[in-house]
This record gives sequence, structure tokens and C-alpha cells, in this order.
Amino acid sequence: MSDIPIFIFWEDAMKAIIKTKPGPGNVELVDVPVPGIAETEVLIKVRAMGICGSDILIIDGDMDANVPIILGHEFSGEIVEKGSKVTHFSIGDRVASELSIQSCRWCVDCRRGDFHLCANRRAPGIHMNGVFTEYIALPEFSLHKIPDNISYEEGAVMEPAAVAAHGVLERALIQPEDFVVIIGPGTIGLLALQMVMHYGAKKVVVAGKENDMHLRLLTAQELGADRIINVDRENIEDIVFEMTDGRGADLVVDCAGTQSAIYEGIQVLKKHGRLCTMGMPGEIEIGIPWKKAIFRDMDLIFSYSSSASSWNIVRSMLERGAINVKPLITHRESFSNYQIVLDDATKGNVIKAILFHES
Ligand SMILES: [Zn+2]
Ligand SMILES: [Zn+2]
Repeated sequence: MSDIPIFIFWEDAMKAIIKTKPGPGNVELVDVPVPGIAETEVLIKVRAMGICGSDILIIDGDMDANVPIILGHEFSGEIVEKGSKVTHFSIGDRVASELSIQSCRWCVDCRRGDFHLCANRRAPGIHMNGVFTEYIALPEFSLHKIPDNISYEEGAVMEPAAVAAHGVLERALIQPEDFVVIIGPGTIGLLALQMVMHYGAKKVVVAGKENDMHLRLLTAQELGADRIINVDRENIEDIVFEMTDGRGADLVVDCAGTQSAIYEGIQVLKKHGRLCTMGMPGEIEIGIPWKKAIFRDMDLIFSYSSSASSWNIVRSMLERGAINVKPLITHRESFSNYQIVLDDATKGNVIKAILFHES
């Protein structure tokens, strides 16, 4: 996909949500040209767009992006045009895309299939124009068909689902009978909950804060969490050690990326326990209770973004109903009303907000 110039009048124009310059705010809905496609690319009509925590970080100026830029990376859509060298996709296919839409394909990481770790990786909505628009040109190698049994809205949640799958299934390697604590009940935390339950966790506790109580933690409970914890009112250590007869948790999954989540996560782990972190801390550095971790032989596992294989897992789990993303879609707004969901998302009243085009 080539970067497209903006702020000019174009005959073949489309609407796009653009971050115009660094700092907090500076987001506008403007006309941009419909992109052309290269021989190996397809043109996708965007049908549904998901708003991610990292979009909010970029909008608030807490995460760098290559501005001016069309925001957004979570989406699904329909292929409406294809280049002459596209071989695996057809016009009319319903698709979503990995974030590694540019990677060198030749470094050791790429040749292992870890395109998300390539030094030359570029992702939409961060390094290059993103998906909060009407059409996007993407290389076919980054695409995945969305299962026939799910809607475009649900298809837009495949990307965060792949992040959760990479974390708990490929990095943390959930084991049968694991006692799991998930900290941070956002979209990825609630997907991780469903995945660890499906793949054999004995019990799952989901922890959040006071402002998670009325929506996110209740959803965790409805999805089958054995216990929800409001860490602003309850002592997570007391509860986890009581539930595990004093042993502690086998696995903590951090989906918050905060100092307190990492600290508490290590406090509640058993000896030989694993803490897998997928949380994005922005620019801050996080300290860990080193002595506690080393004296208990703990594993600290970092999990970044998603791999191509984690997308295959998600596609399979969605196809057979092993995960359900519908309860996570709490807000739907038409594209032109994007400001409403951005405001709600900033306040934390949202699990997953989806924007859609009227036609
Ligand atoms: Zn995302
Ligand atoms: Zn590479």
C-alpha cells in the first residue's frame, strides 16, 4: 500500500479519519483519494472498523504515529478489485488483515513466519495510512478470509483476537488445569478468558478496576469467569491465595500494561508461575518485584502483536464457535459519528466499539 497525500481535492474521493499532527487531539474527518493498487494488492471496501486502545493512545498523543495519517488497524471488508498477480483471493471475498502489511520477508524473523518482529515491519494506522476510511489497498499476503458464519462487525475483532491467541496460546502456552488470573478486562482480556477456558484452564479469575465494574467485569462473569475482582475494593492476593489453597496462580495474563498490574501479577503467582504480558504501557517504564520473582523461579513472558499462525487459530475458533466476539461489541456507530465512540472509549465505557459505513 502506498502512502497517499491528503488535504487536496480529489475527483475519486473518500472520507477518512486522520490524525493531522502530533500532540493530543488533532483528529479530523477529511476527503482523501481512493488508493490505487499494485499488481500484488487488492482494493478492499471497508465494512466495519474496530476502535483499539492503541488508537486512543495515538489520538491522545501518548503513542507515536507517522502523522499525518489515516488512523485505525482493526477492520473487515470486501475485496472489490484485485491486481493481476493476486492469486489467493477473489473479488467479493470477505477479509481482515494482519498488521504486518509491510515486512522484508527475508530476515530471520520473517523466514520463521514472525512478520510482526521484522525490523522493517510497517503497520496501518501507526506507520502508514490505516483503515478508518472507505477503501484500503493491501497486499494479499497479509489477508485472511473471515469465516462465513460471522458478520463483518465480528470480523473486525479478529485482529485483537489474534493478539490474545498469540499471547495465551503461542507464548504463555496455557496448560490443562492451569489456575489463571487475567488482569485488564478489555477486549483482549475477555478474548484471552474465552481461550484459556476453552483450552483447559481449571479456574479463571478476571481482575479490573472500579470503572470496569458496570460493564467489562460483568461481561467477564457472563462469559464464565469463576471470580471477578475489583482491585480498587478487594485484595487480589488474599482472594487468589485463598482460591488456590495458598499456592498462587499458575498463569497471570496482563492485558493492562500498568505498573500495578505487573506488580500484583507477580505477587499472586505460585512458584514456577508464568506471567504473560500483552499490555501496552505507552512510554512509561515498569519496575518488577525482582526478588520475589527470582526466589520463586518465575517466568516473565512478553507477547507482542500477533503472528500469522495466531490468525489461523482465531479463524478456526470462530468457525466452530469456540470463541464468541458478539458480547464484546458494546458500541456501534456510523462512520460519520466517530467522535461519539471515541469520547466513550476515552472514558472507558466501552469494550469494543465498531464503526460502520451506512452503505
Ligand atoms: Zn488493536
Ligand atoms: Zn523481515
